[in-house]
Amino acid sequence: MKLPGYSDKIGLYIHVPFCRSKCIYCGFYSEVSSDLQERYISSLIREMELYSGRFRDRAFTTIYIGGGTPSILNGEQVRKIFEALKKYFHFETEIEVTIEANPESISSDTVRVWKEVGINRVSIGVQSAHDAELRFLGRAHNILMAEKSIKIVHKEGFPNINIDLIFGIPGQTIKSFMQSIEWAVNQGVTHISTYSLTVEPGTLLHRLVQTGKIRMPDEDKFREMYRARDEMLSSLGFRRYEISNFAIPGFESMHNRIYWYHGEYLGLGPSSASFVYKPEPLRWQNNPDLSGYIRALSMGNFPPLKKDYLNVKALLLERIFLYIRTTKGIPRELAEFIFSKNERISHFFVCGERFCALNFEGLMVADSLSVELFRTLEPYIDMIEL
Ligand code: SF4
Repeated sequence: MKLPGYSDKIGLYIHVPFCRSKCIYCGFYSEVSSDLQERYISSLIREMELYSGRFRDRAFTTIYIGGGTPSILNGEQVRKIFEALKKYFHFETEIEVTIEANPESISSDTVRVWKEVGINRVSIGVQSAHDAELRFLGRAHNILMAEKSIKIVHKEGFPNINIDLIFGIPGQTIKSFMQSIEWAVNQGVTHISTYSLTVEPGTLLHRLVQTGKIRMPDEDKFREMYRARDEMLSSLGFRRYEISNFAIPGFESMHNRIYWYHGEYLGLGPSSASFVYKPEPLRWQNNPDLSGYIRALSMGNFPPLKKDYLNVKALLLERIFLYIRTTKGIPRELAEFIFSKNERISHFFVCGERFCALNFEGLMVADSLSVELFRTLEPYIDMIEL
């Protein structure tokens, strides 16, 4: 039995670790102070130089500038990053170049520079079309700012725009979530990502929930929201291609597909992760520590990082974990083998001619199901080829 091969594309990710303020639920690494922005840019360029030799034979297919809040960088800083990218790496001719942006830091001047340097996709963290929900989340923008920023991005000639939305916000109703979806679609975007609000350890939201000051919606409410979301987006012409991601056909994110199809990627910047298959499967992650990152690179060293060598078992688990999140799913032959060993799992899948993918109930329990699936397969691991 064989799992489908991995994506042969390689992506490049840059983490910009600055935000104007900290949202109450945020588990991503970012700093609120901006004093270190210039030193971060110089360090990032040094990091590119250090990796240029190792990746000189590869042509990257995508660039994704995420964060944090990349739109906090001014035009000059963005230009410097792209000049260095062109100097140190090779790229395929047609590449997808995404920048994440937040409404409070989008201006015509910087958006114009994005266009000049070759950015062709903008992902805007709006999260909700309701000011009360935005205030609860601790976002730095309101809905008017969001509308204005999307107009700017359209006006400067970006047809490919994603909006991020969050659901499961305490106090949010199905109706208000549906209004946020409708609002997002009405902005003329091509892609919508919807994430359920999770309570990450170490966040303010975590403390508020732990001390009983805030109650998260129960499982039934989440389930209803998932269902309503899927129906609403599909009725509006958006197709789900991963648990949380919907696109007008043809506008699926190439960069995210590299992650979901177990492809390789180089991550630059504090807290970014990288994954390569050769010479041996290896994942590494820079420490989430901007000062340590700058210190190491100013001395010409790689930033402090953690390495994780992956054996076949680990790779197999990862690949199943990733593939079952996609609408394509896993090969039918493999799925039927799993069902023959654990009949319960079959209730969470729907099968087509060649592939089996999670059904709605399966999507609801995807994480625990991946673990159960792997435990079922573990004794037969030698029969599966990657
Ligand atoms: S803007 Fe994004 S990265 Fe920054 S604190 Fe909020 S959720 Fe986190």
